[in-house]
Amino acid sequence: MSDILLNDFATPERIEALKSSYHQVLTLLGEDPEREGLLKTPERVAKAMLALTRGYHMDAREVLLSAKFKEDYRQMVIVKDIDFFSLCEHHMLPFYGKAHVAYIPNGYITGLSKIARVVDIFSHRLQVQERMTLQIKECIQEALDPLGVMVVVEARHMCMQMRGVEKQNAITTTSDFTGAFNRAKTREEFMNLIKA
Ligand SMILES: [Zn+2]
Repeated sequence: MSDILLNDFATPERIEALKSSYHQVLTLLGEDPEREGLLKTPERVAKAMLALTRGYHMDAREVLLSAKFKEDYRQMVIVKDIDFFSLCEHHMLPFYGKAHVAYIPNGYITGLSKIARVVDIFSHRLQVQERMTLQIKECIQEALDPLGVMVVVEARHMCMQMRGVEKQNAITTTSDFTGAFNRAKTREEFMNLIKA
């Protein structure tokens, strides 16, 4: 994992402290942290975890506001198939999949890439899928004040699949919405468009 994914929070002191913690974790797992293959592992894991949780130090609302444009378009805007990778907060194991976002502008739009950035920021934290879905929705609702926003997230959870708790290919779907999406017909239109 590249160091450029790290931010100011990832100070040398913090990396050092995490390194020694992961060194201990390896020992507690019955491994020998001094064997060749594991020598640099504590440092790699420390940096990887800091990168995978970098979203704590990023302001998703600010990202949307930085690219908020006045526009009269009032039809549904859809950004579908946004790949994301997150860590479940119960096991710190990956859950990953796709997020689909729709909003109906009320005078303002944002850059399409900014919607993907919002998903990226909230997924780079310890999460539960339900809360991540809600946070993406609330962030867009607050920043753009659209007529409505809807978020659908489909994910596979490694904490279920690797531990054999659930069927290997189970996909968990969550959704949340505001405003105009309270109408079943509007939700249906969105669901049909993301299936295509
Ligand atoms: Zn879990």
